[in-house]
Amino acid sequence: MKISTQLMVEPGHKARLRDRDPEAPPGIKGKAAAEKTLEKNMTRLEELQYLLYAESKRAVLIVFQAMDAGGKDGTIRHVMSALNPQGCSVTPFKVPTAEEAKHDFLWRIHKAAPRLGEFAIFNRSHYEDVLVVRVHNLVPKSTWAKRYDHINSFEKLLAESQVTIFKFFLHVSKDEQKERFQNRLEDPIRQWKLSSADFAERDYWDDYIKAYEDALTLCSTPWAPWYVIPANKKWFRNLAVSQILVEALENLDMKFPPPSLDVSKVRLK
Ligand code: AMP
Ligand code: MG
Repeated sequence: MKISTQLMVEPGHKARLRDRDPEAPPGIKGKAAAEKTLEKNMTRLEELQYLLYAESKRAVLIVFQAMDAGGKDGTIRHVMSALNPQGCSVTPFKVPTAEEAKHDFLWRIHKAAPRLGEFAIFNRSHYEDVLVVRVHNLVPKSTWAKRYDHINSFEKLLAESQVTIFKFFLHVSKDEQKERFQNRLEDPIRQWKLSSADFAERDYWDDYIKAYEDALTLCSTPWAPWYVIPANKKWFRNLAVSQILVEALENLDMKFPPPSLDVSKVRLK
């Protein structure tokens, strides 16, 4: 079975995270083989981005969500380094600024959507508005509960505007998060990444899982599917993300535009 089929949350089906193993699936050959395939995928991704840019008829949006230390930054640093920075934007979504908070929750998101020919990568996204916002009751339930429909409509608008959408939930276990926090605590060049809020959020782990399960269930659509990426092993995570992107972008059947002049008639002096 293709990795994308295996890891996609089938639209209309319940996304139960406890039934999805954060470890690399059995039958995958292992780290060394995965890294070779990753390298090939990244070369292909670079070519596909070039083609997308040349064609300029569509765009790509890649959303990353995860628990703290789930690997969003690492995935962007590794896999997305295949992309030419010219033609690619990365937007991290933090606590809304005073200005952002005065608008509807999709306002800041829509501004960061990709132009035709380009990739946009979201490090966190509009999903925070049904995750952290829900877990900490930052708005009443009557407000966040309506957002799943708003999100689906918004993503449909993008999809119908030629944006191919990928949404990756990097799935790590609570133990793996602990180990990563521990490693950061012990590593002087990574201590800056830690905040006391990260540790406090661990207490809400189960609430986050519930909020994620609803977001994955209600917002995995044919036009913007969610993928749950087993992310305890970074090498598998990177392989899976790159593989899903390459397979889907190959299927777009993009073409270089024909030259605007008859190249056989050009004589350079
Ligand atoms: P980081 O990604 O570690 O830099 O942290 C960004 C923080 O911003 C996280 O704690 C997010 O939960 C928080 N955040 C992002 N979007 C929102 C939002 N819409 N409302 C409240 N907090 C948010
Ligand atoms: Mg953080």
